[in-house]
Amino acid sequence: METMDTLHEKPDSYWREKLTPEQYAIVRGKGTEPPFTGEYTFSKEKGMYMCVACGQALFLSDTKFESSSGWPSFSDPVNRENVELRPDTSLGMRRTEVVCTQCGAHLGHVFDDGPQPVGKRYCINSLALKLEKP
Ligand code: FE
Repeated sequence: METMDTLHEKPDSYWREKLTPEQYAIVRGKGTEPPFTGEYTFSKEKGMYMCVACGQALFLSDTKFESSSGWPSFSDPVNRENVELRPDTSLGMRRTEVVCTQCGAHLGHVFDDGPQPVGKRYCINSLALKLEKP
């Protein structure tokens, strides 16, 4: 695994080569996949959801829950230090962006309407994730 510093210093060409165009558009271009299109939207498989760009562990399948949003939804990251939360006012909305701390990949957004007791809904693009099964 490459260190955080080296990954954050990678040129754009590195990510263009490493990722598919669809993945690149999400994680480097801060895109959003159309709802109900991602491979993990309805997945109930067990395992660890990793960052598709760098392989850092992000979300356990145990924290995944059904939401009507059309994107994979999680109540909590596996480790708070693995995601950075950034204010995002793009598209005229006040949202909180979720970013992989190890590589800077855009993952999705987090909202305050998740299940109790945590109350968070991490709304994450399938294209930003790779499920590692046990
Ligand atoms: Fe990453």
